[in-house]
Amino acid sequence: MTKSNSTGHGVYNPLDSMMSRFNEAARILGLDEQIANVLKSPDKCVIVTMPITMDDGSIRVFEGYRVVHSDHLGPGKGGIRYSMDVNLDEVKALAAWMTWKCAVVNIPFGGAKGGVKCDPRTMSKGELERLTRGYTRAMVDVFGPDKDIPAPDMGTGQQEMAWIVDEYSKVKGQNSLAVVTGKPLVLGGSLGRVEATGRGVMITARSAMAKLGMKPTQVTCVVQGFGNVGSISAKLLAQLGVKVVGISDISGGLYNPNGIDVLKAIEHVQNHASHTLEGFAGGERIVNGAILELPCDILVPAAKEDQITPENADKIKAKLIVEGANGPTTAEADPILRKKGILVVPDILANAGGVTVSYFEWVQNRLGYYWTEERVHRRSDRVLKQAFDNVYAASEKYGVDMRIAAYIVAMDKVATTLKLRGLF
Ligand code: NAD
Repeated sequence: MTKSNSTGHGVYNPLDSMMSRFNEAARILGLDEQIANVLKSPDKCVIVTMPITMDDGSIRVFEGYRVVHSDHLGPGKGGIRYSMDVNLDEVKALAAWMTWKCAVVNIPFGGAKGGVKCDPRTMSKGELERLTRGYTRAMVDVFGPDKDIPAPDMGTGQQEMAWIVDEYSKVKGQNSLAVVTGKPLVLGGSLGRVEATGRGVMITARSAMAKLGMKPTQVTCVVQGFGNVGSISAKLLAQLGVKVVGISDISGGLYNPNGIDVLKAIEHVQNHASHTLEGFAGGERIVNGAILELPCDILVPAAKEDQITPENADKIKAKLIVEGANGPTTAEADPILRKKGILVVPDILANAGGVTVSYFEWVQNRLGYYWTEERVHRRSDRVLKQAFDNVYAASEKYGVDMRIAAYIVAMDKVATTLKLRGLF
């Protein structure tokens, strides 16, 4: 922890969180110190400034980042985040998590991440387009279908990916659909990509419920964050028969012990001017901090990092946490959750459905042949189920929680590849 913030919780550095799990897994794995040092250091960190003309004619300077953590298993892969909280340490942590995530689900990508410090909600479509094209031009030598392949993350979506394809293709003088994933369908996107991360959360939650002997139709769930990952996780868990009793987003939270109509909530967010849950009347209004502490069996943090901390971990009532967001639990909170006997399906496994279908999108772009939605779901479900079983088996073999087990599985794979490729 570094300093404190306005919410009363400490401000945690996600890079410290990543490193502390890395060090624990390296110790258990008996990883050679020199190899560990290579794996800890990002391959490449790029910082750019982009002067953008705003709608009122003024010029604002934005700062953008791209970190390629590792390309040992394949080209770098990872989303681009637009948020005022973006900073280099956060991007470095997210890039490393992508390396471990791709390794956990066994897809041939390394890890990368990008971000621009901006508040997309206060920008017009034209301003966002100029910013995205500016960022792409600045990163044109970093990105590439065989080098580093971005995707959406918080604050970005299909439209930004379409602008990136267009700008990158123009600069390179050739169409290059495979340079990003998470594209609109008409522009080489994959069926099933929009739902992929939430679907992976549901699949891994289902595997975890089976291990705990929980019947989906007899359990309740709370979801923090109601964007792409949160809303789809909630929808698919509800389809399994799970009762969703709490949801929240930036506008606040809702609690209804009788169950929230998730489809109605999604419709509300789509139609409301603010694209939030503001004004949705499906339950009792609660303040944001309270959502994680609601009575429930399953908790899905799907908003942002550093939400489960030593300040609130002890108050969590769920028996199972499935991490839809990246880094929602700080390293200091892990032992508290462990002591309470809560099973945590860690982010690098639980939210890996997104990158898995991103990989399928890249494969389809390169084949020039597109799969049915049913094939995408079937293949990604298989990948996620297998990854869950591998991590669960490693947690039993090494006597560790699933988070450290996931790091062990991933780091072992990347370290083996690194040794085979050599370090010259
Ligand atoms: P999004 O922008 O679609 O949604 C984020 C949601 O979180 C919004 O509903 C927002 O209102 C809410 N939120 C923000 N701050 C909050 C707060 N303090 N309390 C409660 N809610 C808050 O983003 P997303 O794509 O759904 O990503 C969510 C998380 O999942 C991020 O950590 C992201 O890195 C991770 N993730 C996303 C994908 C993907 O495919 N989209 C894949 C893997 C991981």
